[in-house]
Parts: sequence; C-alpha cells; structure tokens
Amino acid sequence: MRRARVAPPPRAADVAILGAGAAGITAARRLLALGLSVVLIEARDRVGGRALTARLAGQAVDLGAHWLHAADDNGLVREARRLGLPLFDAPQEPRLILGARGADALETRAFHEAWAEVDDAIAEIGAGRDLAPASAALDRLGPRAQPWRAVLAFAHGPFACGASLDAIGAADFAAARDDLDLFVAGGYGALVARLADGLPVALATRATRIDWSGREVRVETDSGTLAARALVVTVPVPILARGDTARGDIVFDPPLPAPTRDALAALRPASYEHVVLAWPGGPLREAANTTVAFDGDAEANLGLLANFDGGVLHYADLGGALVGRLGSPQARAGFVRESLGARFGRDAVADLRVLHASGWGEDPLSACAWTIAPPGAHGARAVLRDPIGGRILLAGEATSSTLWGTIGGAWAEGERAAREVAGMLAGMPAGETVC
Ligand SMILES: Cc1cc2nc3c(=O)[nH]c(=O)nc-3n(C[C@H](O)[C@H](O)[C@H](O)COP(=O)(O)OP(=O)(O)OC[C@H]3O[C@@H](n4cnc5c(N)ncnc54)[C@H](O)[C@@H]3O)c2cc1C
Repeated sequence: MRRARVAPPPRAADVAILGAGAAGITAARRLLALGLSVVLIEARDRVGGRALTARLAGQAVDLGAHWLHAADDNGLVREARRLGLPLFDAPQEPRLILGARGADALETRAFHEAWAEVDDAIAEIGAGRDLAPASAALDRLGPRAQPWRAVLAFAHGPFACGASLDAIGAADFAAARDDLDLFVAGGYGALVARLADGLPVALATRATRIDWSGREVRVETDSGTLAARALVVTVPVPILARGDTARGDIVFDPPLPAPTRDALAALRPASYEHVVLAWPGGPLREAANTTVAFDGDAEANLGLLANFDGGVLHYADLGGALVGRLGSPQARAGFVRESLGARFGRDAVADLRVLHASGWGEDPLSACAWTIAPPGAHGARAVLRDPIGGRILLAGEATSSTLWGTIGGAWAEGERAAREVAGMLAGMPAGETVC
C-alpha cells in the first residue's frame, strides 16, 4: 500500500484524529484541504478500520463492508466516480429458498409483498414515539404474510441490522436510508484505503488517554504524547462506552460529560460476520450478486450473497445473537457448513471450502460490526454529535442518524466533524461550520 506514515507521531498539530477508518480519513482530508495541520492516530498497522479488502482465490474479497448503501447520498460513490472505478447495481430483492428448492413464482411474489408490508409497518411505527421495537411490525402482518414471518424477521433483523428486531427501535430502523445500493470494482475496503493515500497517519499507535483539562487536548499514545488544539474521535462507540483500561481502552480526563456517556451506553453493538465460501459444485449456481434468503428459525439462520462480483465465491453472513452464541470464527464457519449440509445434503457440501471467517466482534479495535439504537435510544446518535468542551468531536457510523451502520454514514460524519472543528478553531460560535 502506498501511504504516508508518520512515526513517531509529531508532538503537536492543529487537529488530532483518533482512528483511520472511513470517518477519520475523510475528516483528515477535509481539514488538510482547509490548511490545518492534522495527524491521524491509528492503533492498527493499516488504515480502513472495518473496511478491508483482501485477495482470496484470486478475487477481491471484502472482509468487512461490501455494499455502497444509499448510493445517491454516499460520498464514497462520488469518490469512486472521481477515481474512475466501475460501480455495479447491487441486488434489491433476495431470492427465497425453501428447504432445498427455490420458491416458485407465486411464493416469491407473496414473499416480496410481505417484505414490503414489514417495511411499511416499521416506517409507520417508527414515525411515532420512539419506544416500540421494530419487531412490533411483525404483529401487524396480514394472513398472507404470516407464512414468511420467520424469514422476514431474520432478513430484516440479523441479516440486515445485525440484531434481532426485538433489540432495535422501530425509530432507528425507520430512520435508516434504504435506497439504491451499489458495489465497487476492486472492493469497498480497497476504495477506502486508497482515499487515505498521502495522509499523515501514525500507524500501530494506540491512543490510551485524553487529557482535556487545559486549553489544548493532550493525546497520550503508546508512542508518546501529542498536543492538539482540537480532537476528532472516530473510535467505535462500544469501545468508548466500555472504557476498560485493562483492555487498553481510552480514558478521558476529565471524564466525558454525563449526556455523552449516557448516549454512548444507550447504543448497542450489532453483530455481523462473513464466512467466505468457495463452493464450485454447490447448488447455488445463481446469477452474479444474488442475495439468498432461506426459510428457517429467525435466530439461527444465515443469509448469502452468491457469486459476488460474478466470481465463484459466496458470502455467507451471520448476524445478531447467533454470532455471540457460536462464539468464534471457527464455530461460525462450522455452523455455515452444517446448516448448508442439512439443507442440501452432505454430498452437496463435500467441496465447500471456507476461505475466511471474520471476527469483528472479537476484535478489540472494532468490538462490533456497527451500532443499533434500542427502543427509546435513537436520539442518542444526535447527542453524540454535540461538541464537547469546545474542542472534542465524536464522529463515525454511530453518530449518523440516517446512515448509521454504514461507511457512507461514517464518511458524512467525518466531514461534518471536520467542518465543525474548523469552525471552532476559526473562533466561530458552536454549531456554525466552515464549508
Ligand atoms: C462484517 C461487516 C460487514 C459490513 N457491511 C457493510 C456494508 O456492506 N456496507 C456498509 O456501508 N457498511 C458495512 N459495515 C459497517 C461499516 O464497516 C462501518 O460502519 C464503518 O466501517 C465504520 O467506519 P468508522 O470510521 O466509523 O469506524 P472504523 O472503521 O471502525 O474506524 C475506527 C478506527 O479506530 C481505530 N481505533 C480503535 N481504537 C483506537 C485507539 N485506542 N487508538 C487509535 N485508533 C483506534 C480502529 O482500529 C479503526 O481503524 C459492515 C461491517 C462489518 C463488520
């Protein structure tokens, strides 16, 4: 990777940014463009955070984010176009498999109608008071939709949100933008990493303590201390909420304000993991980029993106409580093999090979796939956007009210934080930003 590295980090900068994922990268780009001095402090030995593309079996494979969601409002779509990278339409509706057979035309139609019924019900419930779980929508389903209740609960819950619909507030679900999705040639992680080219990143440098008792912010890292006029924190929210010094989590001195701490604690980690499969002789000879929904138990199911990018590989995806119950990438790989074997027959999985099983939830630097807001907690995302002490801003997927859980949301939030920081440093009143 071609990337500027600063080692050790400088002793001073206008703005320090913790985390070189999507939010940190765009914040740095924006602040540098405004003429400010910036340093990105990144604990990993690479940039990109929860976006990471690897090469497996000769193909670019996203081990984290893969879908460019809400394409019309996604800064990464604009960046891909600027760089001349080809973009492809992502599937909008899944193919339904019942047992080992594909659903027929009537079943497929009824399933898609039921799908739309759930979406409409969540939107209606979510527009009211923020106290209902998204699962309340399932209780409104008409008789024609009932046969699909479990698969809809899985597809909208663990497969889409990384959590059961009981755990997520209807308001948070309904606020999420859900329009056109795209894929980018070469992988989403590769695109995010490319956008960090040339940025001043201190890799393999972990921030451990933030002293914001004085006019400046002092950032202690395992490679020395840095003083900055302002700080942008893009570290995943569950890590900030945890604040477990035994695990090396960041300590704030003085502690963050109570509303911020409450908002951090209110958002919950979502679990979502890929198991990447090579399965040349398998029954899923689908058209390129087909999402597959299987019938089955909503809390013990898997979803598939078959033949992604027109290649021979599949993403089998697990989400929600099942991820933690299985407990390790190996156990999740075993679950995928067993459930596909139980569905299609032992002989059918004879040539199935697991190329990778992700462990983002176990990774101490991500601790989740993204965040969800339980009933009553959607407003926590806005609270986290409030500037702290006139010199600290939080940004990342979790601080977006409408694009939470996505790279596009993290990107937009990094830009928002950069504009606000620049405004603060220019002495503008809180809330006013520099364009
Ligand atoms: C399996 C999976 C699939 C996903 N699928 C999609 C998808 O298809 N589309 C989509 O849009 N999104 C998807 N997401 C979500 C998406 O990846 C995240 O929302 C997004 O990457 C978050 O970006 P961020 O900048 O907020 O955080 P991150 O990318 O997590 O960046 C934060 C950075 O902070 C660093 N850090 C942590 N602690 C410290 C410390 N103490 N000091 C210094 N640095 C530290 C981390 O190493 C990390 O690099 C998926 C996520 C997963 C895990």
